[in-house]
Amino acid sequence: MIRTRFAPSPTGFLHIGGARTALFSWAYARGHAGSFVLRIEDTDLARSTPEAVQAILDGMAWLGLDYDEGPFYQTRRMDRYRAVIGEMLAAGTAYHCYMAPEELDRLRGEQRQQGLKPRYNGLWRPEPGKDLPLPPAGVQPVVRFRNPSDGMVAWDDLVKGRIEIANGELDDLVIARADGTPTYNFCVVVDDRDMGITHVIRGDDHVNNTPRQINILRALGAEVPLYAHLSMILGDDGQKLSKRHGAVSVMQYDDEGYLPEAVVNYLGRLGWSHGDEEIFSRQQFCEWFDLDHITPSAAQFNTEKLNWLNAHYLKRAHPSRLTALVRPRLAGRGVTITAAPSLEAIIALHQERVANLNELADVAEVFYRDLQPTAELLTKHLTPGTLPLLQSFVADLPAIPWEAAAIGALIKACVARHGVKMPKLAMPLRILLTGQEQTPSVDALLALFPREIVLKRLAVGMQADVLRGSAH
Ligand code: GLU
Repeated sequence: MIRTRFAPSPTGFLHIGGARTALFSWAYARGHAGSFVLRIEDTDLARSTPEAVQAILDGMAWLGLDYDEGPFYQTRRMDRYRAVIGEMLAAGTAYHCYMAPEELDRLRGEQRQQGLKPRYNGLWRPEPGKDLPLPPAGVQPVVRFRNPSDGMVAWDDLVKGRIEIANGELDDLVIARADGTPTYNFCVVVDDRDMGITHVIRGDDHVNNTPRQINILRALGAEVPLYAHLSMILGDDGQKLSKRHGAVSVMQYDDEGYLPEAVVNYLGRLGWSHGDEEIFSRQQFCEWFDLDHITPSAAQFNTEKLNWLNAHYLKRAHPSRLTALVRPRLAGRGVTITAAPSLEAIIALHQERVANLNELADVAEVFYRDLQPTAELLTKHLTPGTLPLLQSFVADLPAIPWEAAAIGALIKACVARHGVKMPKLAMPLRILLTGQEQTPSVDALLALFPREIVLKRLAVGMQADVLRGSAH
């Protein structure tokens, strides 16, 4: 039974790198009928906040990454960590160290001066036949892990291949501070063991922790999970992804009008591949996802590709779903959405032409607000010669059935009667109704509006100075 986990530290947003780690862990469990555990690593009390926990939960919910167990909070497991520390002290795999912090600093300073790697000197480490100093009075000891002194610690990383570290390189790690609180690496180990994690999929900033964690797991007699360390994500410019690159929080993609399935699809391909496949559903991803096809090199973010995927999913989304997503965006802009024109019809006509939900809101907005086309567009597309065309179009408009085909027929008849080309009428209609040069076909566009609004916008437009020649 495969068990994976996502173990974020709630110190900020759910950023894009964390989201990818969560996605890979989730998909691996889902694709193998396993379990996916959410664990909040909130022991750093100074940096963890409830808002950051909420941001993680919101981000995962938005991406559709559901978990089978948790969220488990490390701060609620302190008794458990203390119990394990007690067991290790009793078993001799951990020991009390009374070295005062100042003494440790002094030791490290000396080692540095001698060009040595600063490290604990093992003063309080029990060894067979060694006499330990007497514990000084009034000093609260830390607890150190008794790291194996010889040999190597090695693992076959599922992304990076074999990694070996000499135990001699590893210090006796502090696992409990003088105040009794357990330290980071120790909590991770106890949790991964208690939660029965089989595959640890995480960022490669944790590679350095892995040999220590493996040694502690072994000391506990626990099975060592498999590790897959994901390479980092670089920004579009090839630099380490940071706030400078704009959208770092997953929820910012929501704000910017991306659909979650586009972000999931995009993140799925970021450092993983399945042949040449670029477009896949969440479910397809879970079926295909494996750890053999993760690239060990850093993945580079490509905003253009994300935009392309977003446009792809926008085209295919049901208009009613997009309507529900655009509605609050319009409300946020103070737009009152009336029954006519129908928002869903507006969206159905435009969803193939936009890159994101905000652009969809932009086009929808002009249908509900009084419009003031720019002077520049009016001068470009309207001339005194346009006026008779509009007048004859408006004169016939009340009599036709209100649907695209009849409107289209009227436009054709009108330009034929005046002996002009289609754009001579179509462009002024576009400008006066939407203030835009680029719109879907003009007959379908007009049919979206109630007839009275078309008549009203055209009447207002026909007052434009350029039509009366006074601007010339
Ligand atoms: N809490 C760690 C982080 O947010 C992850 C630890 C782990 O996955 O082992 O970077």
